Amino acid sequence: MISKRIENLKPSGIREFFELVLETKGVISLGVGEPDFDTPWNVREKGIWSLEEGLTSYTSNKGLLQLRKQISLYLKHRYGVYYDPQDEILITVGVSEGLDLCIRALVDGGDRVIVCSPYYVAYPAIVKIQGGEVLYLHLKKEEDFKINIGDLKKMLKYRPKAIILNYPANPTGVSYTRKELYQIWKALKDTDCLVISDEIYSELSYDFCHTCFSSFKGAKSKTLLLGGFSKNYCMTGFRIGFVCGSSSLISALTKIHQYTILCAPTVSQFSALEALKIPLKEMEAIRREYARRREFIIKELKTLGWDVVYPQGAFYCFADIKRDGFKFAKDLLFKKKVALVPGEAFGEEFTSYVRITYAQNLSLLKEAVERIREFVNQ
Ligand code: PMP
Repeated sequence: MISKRIENLKPSGIREFFELVLETKGVISLGVGEPDFDTPWNVREKGIWSLEEGLTSYTSNKGLLQLRKQISLYLKHRYGVYYDPQDEILITVGVSEGLDLCIRALVDGGDRVIVCSPYYVAYPAIVKIQGGEVLYLHLKKEEDFKINIGDLKKMLKYRPKAIILNYPANPTGVSYTRKELYQIWKALKDTDCLVISDEIYSELSYDFCHTCFSSFKGAKSKTLLLGGFSKNYCMTGFRIGFVCGSSSLISALTKIHQYTILCAPTVSQFSALEALKIPLKEMEAIRREYARRREFIIKELKTLGWDVVYPQGAFYCFADIKRDGFKFAKDLLFKKKVALVPGEAFGEEFTSYVRITYAQNLSLLKEAVERIREFVNQ
């Protein structure tokens, strides 16, 4: 009964592991990538207000014009890229829907899409669901898990339809300076390969300013920019995000969205509108706190002899623990009640890795590290 494509699809490694976590009591989870901070109160209040006002019907398929205008202002002010709120921005159900729409709009059966490995779990899956072929661009630890331009150029010879970029990255936390990113753009600009740029962690860049891929001259027409509220504004459950691109690309995505989703949840759209009004300095405190936790966790993991590439953003680190990551994570969960994600969820070659999320308060992080240390010493 089930289609071959779906039958052959592996379930998400993260979810599979977290079924186990849910069954275990008293666990400190450094697993799921979710901010531990509360959603800012004014954001929640705006949602409540919209319900009280009875603003509960569908919005335009593309989303509230007010919200699109606010996103346009935010992107211009923050990253120097301009998108027309009328026809270059689409509000989606999280970046998850945005990604799916991009792939569905671009990929016909057999078309190739470059996915950097290690990858966010959804990327290969959505390409395969669409009948596309995944070209894995293997990132090397010795190169700080950054794209090697020579390798990228070799892969472009296979004439891929698109490449999915993600920075700051899940699961490595690695990001790119403007200069580094420019090298990637230079390799791509004279090809037919479109860029799907997942910049969901754009506000969580700790060492340098985040650069929007579409801000390079000529890049806007070849880029689909994905942005969201889940991580930057601690709004995972609101399920809200956006895609920006040229009007022709956005109208293709909107065709799918209008048949399958109609519009993103209205209450969440009002809340997102409020989120964008929060002065950036207020969100700065959260960013500083993540950066503080990063220092702590990296220092501690190194004392365990784990090999970690220093993350520059998001709230993850990806550590080579030089033993079976799945067995380690499972035993650690049962014996010490600390949950990490086995590396193989992010690419089959990462069997000796685990992903650690530091979106957890410092005292829980300290406790988790102590438990890991005891476990390792035993
Ligand atoms: N992209 C990346 C890189 C992510 O880490 C996540 C969430 N873990 C998503 C997309 C999906 O986010 P959303 O909640 O906006 O659907």
